[in-house]
Amino acid sequence: MGGAAGTLFTPIPWKLADDSSIWSQNWSWIPRLKSGAVTADATYSKLCSAGCAVKVKKVGGLAFGVKGNADNALSQGGVCPLCANGAQMLRSPARVAGPLKKDGSAFKAISWDEAEALLADKLKGLKGQSGKVAAISGDGSGTANEVLSGFLAGLGSSAYYYMPSDQTTMAKAWNGIMGGSGQIGYDLEGADLVLCIGADIMDAFGPTVRNQKAIAAKRPIEGDKTVTLLYAGPVRTRTAAVADTWVPVSPDGGAAFALGLANLLIKSGKGASLGGFGEFAELAAKFGPDAVEKAAGVKTEALMTVAKALLMAKNPVVVVGSGSGQGGGVALAAAGVALNALLGSLTVLPEFPKAVSHAPDRSGLLAKDVVAWLADVDAGKAPTPEVLFVYEANPAYALPQAAAMAKTLDKAGLLVSFSTYMDETAALADLILPAPHPFERLDDAQSPYGLGKATYLLATAVAAPEKDCKSTPDFILGLAGKLGVDLGFGAFEDVLKAKVQAIGADWDALAAGGAFVSDRKGSAQADLGASALAKA
Ligand code: SF4
Repeated sequence: MGGAAGTLFTPIPWKLADDSSIWSQNWSWIPRLKSGAVTADATYSKLCSAGCAVKVKKVGGLAFGVKGNADNALSQGGVCPLCANGAQMLRSPARVAGPLKKDGSAFKAISWDEAEALLADKLKGLKGQSGKVAAISGDGSGTANEVLSGFLAGLGSSAYYYMPSDQTTMAKAWNGIMGGSGQIGYDLEGADLVLCIGADIMDAFGPTVRNQKAIAAKRPIEGDKTVTLLYAGPVRTRTAAVADTWVPVSPDGGAAFALGLANLLIKSGKGASLGGFGEFAELAAKFGPDAVEKAAGVKTEALMTVAKALLMAKNPVVVVGSGSGQGGGVALAAAGVALNALLGSLTVLPEFPKAVSHAPDRSGLLAKDVVAWLADVDAGKAPTPEVLFVYEANPAYALPQAAAMAKTLDKAGLLVSFSTYMDETAALADLILPAPHPFERLDDAQSPYGLGKATYLLATAVAAPEKDCKSTPDFILGLAGKLGVDLGFGAFEDVLKAKVQAIGADWDALAAGGAFVSDRKGSAQADLGASALAKA
C-alpha cells in the first residue's frame, strides 16, 4: 500500500517521461523552423507556360509559400493551386538530387563534369548527321529553346520538337497551312463577347489566371456585366459552367460548328482581307445549318443565336482550342482564325528578336508535329536519334498513346532528361541532368500563348538551390563550347541580357517583377488556306 502510494506521488517517472520526450525530439536531423525577417520576392512562375506573376514568401531566406503579385496587370495577384504549392515543390521527395546515369535497371550518381564529358564524347561523332540528335521541349515560351535548338542546328540537326498544346496546334494552322508569321493572340480585356469553341479558358487554355481575371473584371458580382461569355464544346468544362450559354457540340464537331458560323457571317455581309477569301467562302458555304447539325449536333436555332450574338457585339473574340489544353484539331484552329478575321478581331503578336542568331524561328518549330515524328521514327521512316534530349517535358506520360510513345523514346541511343523531378520520362532515361526548380533559376517567357499583347517576362532565382542542379541552357552552352559549336554566348544570363536589350526592355525592371508589354502588332497577312483546311 505504502509502495503504491509512493510510486504514485514520486515525480521521478513523470520527470523521466518528460525528459525522454524532449531528448527524442532534439536530434540534429529533425527540421527546425527558421526564424528571421519575412520577405516576399517578386518573380514570374514557369511552373507552367502561363507565366503568372508571383511573390515567393521567405522567412530567414527560406522559401515557404507563394502568393500572387497584385502589382501585375495580367494575373493581378491571382495564383492557381499549382503555384500556391510551388515552395513545397522545392523540397519534394520526387526531386532528382543531382546528375544520374542509368546503371542496369538502377541509377548511379555522377558528377556534372562526368556528364558533360560523356555527352561530348557521344555527340562529337554525330556532328553533321541529320536527325541523329533530337530534342523535345515542353517550354513554349522560353529563350532556353533558342540555346537548345541553336545547339542542335550547330550539330547539323533540325529535329527539334515541342510537346502538343493549343499553342502548337494554332502554330500548325496559322504559321503552317495559312502561311502567317508571329503568334495569334486574344484580346480578352477589350472584348464585349468571348466565344470559346472547345477552349476551356477558365481552367486549361493559355494563361488561365489572367483569363479568369479578364472575364471576372467585366462580370462583377454587383454592377453591370460588360462581357458575354459563350461556350461551345462537348464537355461541361469550367468555362461552360460559368458561361452565359453553353452550346453542346459533338466531340469532333468544333470545326464544322465554326465553319457554320463563318458561313452565316459571310452571308450577312462579313468579309476578310486575308488571301483566298473566295475559296474559303465556298468551303464555308458547304456548312449550312443542316450540315452543321449533322456534323456537330448543333440545332439551327442555337447556331443562328450564336451567329447573331457575334454580329451584334462590338468587339467579339473567338477562342478555339481543346478542353484539355493539349491541342485540338488544326481545322478548328484555322476556322477560329477565319472567324476572327471575318469579325475584324484577328490579333497577331509579333515575335521578339532572337538572341541566338542562328537558332531556328520559334513559330516554325512550334508548327512541327512531335507525334507524327515519333510515329515516323517507330516506322523507320525517320532516323532513330542517337541522342534525344527532353527539356521541361514528360512525353512518356503526356503524349497521346503514351505507352507506345514511351517505347519509341526508349529506342533512342541515349535518352537525356533534364527533369527536375523523377517523372516517367526521367525514369526511362539513360541520363538525368536535373534542371533547377523554376524558383531557383533564371528564365524567361516570351508572349505566353493566349495573351492579347506581345509580352516579355523575366524569372529570377528567388530561392536557394535545394539540390545539385544546373540550368539546362548553361549546361548546353558549356557542352557547345566543348564541341566547337559557337552559339555566341558562354552563359545563359548573357543570352537573356542580349534578348532584353534587343527587345528594348529594362533588365532591372523585369528582374523586379515587371512585365514588358508592347502594343506593336504583327502582320495579319496570310491565306485562309481553304484547300488545306478542307483536308485537315
Ligand atoms: S497558371 Fe499561373 S499560377 Fe498556375 S501554375 Fe501556371 S504560372 Fe503558376
